[in-house]
This record gives sequence, structure tokens and C-alpha cells, in this order.
Amino acid sequence: MSPTVAVAPDTTALQLLISLIACGQRPGKTQPCDSCRRKGTGLLNIASTGAADAVAAAICGTGKAPACRDCKVKALEIVRVYNEGAE
Ligand SMILES: [Zn+2]
Ligand SMILES: [Zn+2]
Repeated sequence: MSPTVAVAPDTTALQLLISLIACGQRPGKTQPCDSCRRKGTGLLNIASTGAADAVAAAICGTGKAPACRDCKVKALEIVRVYNEGAE
């Protein structure tokens, strides 16, 4: 584990939330699965560009558009959450 340098303080919580959205939110579910958790960093980076289509493709796992409807919905939510959290 290398020390983190010059990262915004709340990125960890935000990244966890983004991973959870990508994984699929259910009542009572507070943690994403390991695979979605690992995607979190990448999703956070893409979300920071505001490109919901790219986020959707990353969630869907293909890496390119078009993503399925489910993943598009999740992507829009992720971009929204990112914009709220990163003000
Ligand atoms: Zn998952
Ligand atoms: Zn999909």
C-alpha cells in the first residue's frame, strides 16, 4: 500500500457509493461485490469527465458504447452522485 498523494478527501466514500450503484442497489445492501469495488476507481475517473455513456460502457463490461439500458440508468445516477459529491 503506497501512501495516497494529493487526492480529494472524500473520494473513498464517493468511490464506494459509485461502486455500489454499479453493482446494483438493494435495500439493506451497503457494500458492492469485490468485482464492482475494483471497478470503482475507473468509474470514478470516467464520472469525473461527465461522460455517462462511457461510464455505462464500463459498468456493462464491454468498455464501449452502446451499453444496455440498465447500465445507462446506473451511469446517469453515478454521474449525478459524482457531481453532487465533488462540488
Ligand atoms: Zn457487483
Ligand atoms: Zn449492461
